Amino acid sequence: MEKISPITEIKGIGPKTEEIFQKIGVYTVGDILLRFPRTYMQYPPMIVPEDLNEDTFVDGKIYGICLRITKSPFTKNTRSHKTITTLTLSGIEMVWFSAPYVKNDLRAGKVMVFYGKLYKKQNHLHMDQPKYFDPEDYANLVDVYLPIYSLTKGLSNETISKAVKQLLNEENLFQDYLPNDIRKAQHLCEYNYAIKQIHFPDSMDSLIDARRRLVFDEFFLFIMAMRYQNKLREKEKSDFCFKDFSFVEGLIKKLPFELTEGQMKSLMEIKSDLEGSYKMQRLLQGDVGSGKTIIAFLFMAWASHLGYQSAIMAPTEVLASQHYETFQNYCKEFGLNCPVVLLTGQMKAKEKRESYRIIEENPSAIIVGTHALIQEKVVYQNLALVITDEQHRFGVKQRETFSNKGSAPHILVMSATPIPRTLGIILYGDMDISVIDHVPSKRLPIKNCVVGTKFRPKAYEWIKNEVKAGHQAYIICPLVEESENSEGENVKDYTKTVSEYLGSDIKVGTLHGKMKGAEKVAIMESFLKNEIQVLVSTTVVEVGVNVPNATVMMIENADKFGLAQLHQLRGRVGRGDAQSYCIFINTSTTKTAKKRLEILNQSNDGFYIASCDLKLRGPGDFFGIRQSGDLAFTLADIYQDASELQAASDAVDSLLESDPDLMNIEHKALKYEMETSIAKQIERMNL
Ligand code: ADP
Ligand code: MG
Repeated sequence: MEKISPITEIKGIGPKTEEIFQKIGVYTVGDILLRFPRTYMQYPPMIVPEDLNEDTFVDGKIYGICLRITKSPFTKNTRSHKTITTLTLSGIEMVWFSAPYVKNDLRAGKVMVFYGKLYKKQNHLHMDQPKYFDPEDYANLVDVYLPIYSLTKGLSNETISKAVKQLLNEENLFQDYLPNDIRKAQHLCEYNYAIKQIHFPDSMDSLIDARRRLVFDEFFLFIMAMRYQNKLREKEKSDFCFKDFSFVEGLIKKLPFELTEGQMKSLMEIKSDLEGSYKMQRLLQGDVGSGKTIIAFLFMAWASHLGYQSAIMAPTEVLASQHYETFQNYCKEFGLNCPVVLLTGQMKAKEKRESYRIIEENPSAIIVGTHALIQEKVVYQNLALVITDEQHRFGVKQRETFSNKGSAPHILVMSATPIPRTLGIILYGDMDISVIDHVPSKRLPIKNCVVGTKFRPKAYEWIKNEVKAGHQAYIICPLVEESENSEGENVKDYTKTVSEYLGSDIKVGTLHGKMKGAEKVAIMESFLKNEIQVLVSTTVVEVGVNVPNATVMMIENADKFGLAQLHQLRGRVGRGDAQSYCIFINTSTTKTAKKRLEILNQSNDGFYIASCDLKLRGPGDFFGIRQSGDLAFTLADIYQDASELQAASDAVDSLLESDPDLMNIEHKALKYEMETSIAKQIERMNL
């Protein structure tokens, strides 16, 4: 087998499974191996019932409990002809549904380890559908890290890990493209070893080594691609003529608020780029709520005024349609008469055609959309400015994509990911940077609290009162639905619980990433219109959403999120004039978790928060926590891996100095890898 072999060569993968894999962009054997686990599962150490006491027991946590079976399980039939099997041992009630065979497995006298989530129910402990193991088998499972992959409908974790296991038994499938001297100098492990260990780590140490190698590669290829291309490209001349800025000044006078100093400074920097003779390539960085959208709008209105088209590209349908509405409102308020057009992938064919038509016929249209703006068959007229909001920068490449569509616009990238200057220069080396350094000062600072689960009823009361006062609330849960592999609250069940608690007068809505685009947009619109008062959601609302009337953000299992992410979530409130509140529910008992969350309590400064988080985390502490938001690396995290980022940057510099065109035969594999990685990224962008 080779890296480029079709996945049907793997035992157990037929045309049907192949089709599902293709939907998530997996075509070849190599593609499967490069889809790294999302996290790892470890069976908890075996305990005996005596180990459980007030101090150690955590409600809802997964345990492996060793129990002697003293009696036979009891099975009864339900009215719908299903079976319920129960067994209570040492005060722990265990229940299996539709699994009559359990009775045969669990014979009195045996000792077994029961594995599952343990709940407190009235006065006793309870486990639903526990798995059970021979104590010896279980002992072998503890200490092993089992990979957990991102799944899609029809694809199980089992299928993926089996396929991966099979592939890892093959001879080395990959060539190590990293020049030997770099690998040695950086003390990085070999590529095939890293691939093996990232899927099935022998130990925590080897996992850390593997990850470090792959993180280095990610940064290295990214920076390499950026610098290599940049070298090929001179500054491009601009053929757009931006003039008559007094038009924008006129709009600013009509704003209901005064622009902050940071907004003004950024505005002037962008203005002078547009008026200059070269194409703009600029990053506008500003913390959540700093007011980037209005800046975008002002320039798009200016373009329109001058007879140019402009487009803003958002990472999600929800955000795109929100911008669409905001921009329409602005146009109304400012008395502007320019067409605002929406284009997203989820729109109906007929609606899309209508948008195409408007775009084709209106050389001064303000265009709002998602990636559909580059994918679909849009024909732009005079497209002078493209703004990307809250997403992975694509700088040069993005412009190229637009160039292929017949226009080479100015590019403005907006991001709320806080980065220190030194990292910014590495990551955005090909861009100029503007920073909005403060949020509008008149706003009341958000009041925070970090509390345990006991506080929930109080939090609901708080929400109730805020809703009574006319406001709205978000509740964030880490999961969409109950999951075997991860602990934490899920949006579906939580919605039910909260609705019951809040009563029928308060409308509770649900939002998560598995919903269809149009559905999501509809829910978000109802929330914006206050038809829904409480929105139970996953982190899909993390990016950019603006509902100024929302004043409470309650985050369940806050300990499961990265601090920067929590900061982004918190940024969804405190956007209007009213006092806002953020309630972090901490479900972890560790001191570090508490310490981490306390940081959010103390500070509202995104960069400070991200850098503190880094200091508090240990080397093995990277599961499931991702910081970088819109900087879409697969494994790498710019804060946590800041030193790798620097090292990769230095390595690229010295390599390109010695071999600027990558002509050296030793660098052939590297050049190829870099080119395919660029192609891959573009493909991912278009998925
Ligand atoms: P972000 O930078 O996170 O994208 P937004 O652009 O969504 O932030 O702005 C958040 C809110 O702040 C919006 O409701 C916007 O109208 C408001 N806003 C923007 N600039 C100012 C300002 N200078 N003073 C007061 N409010 C502002
Ligand atoms: Mg925004």
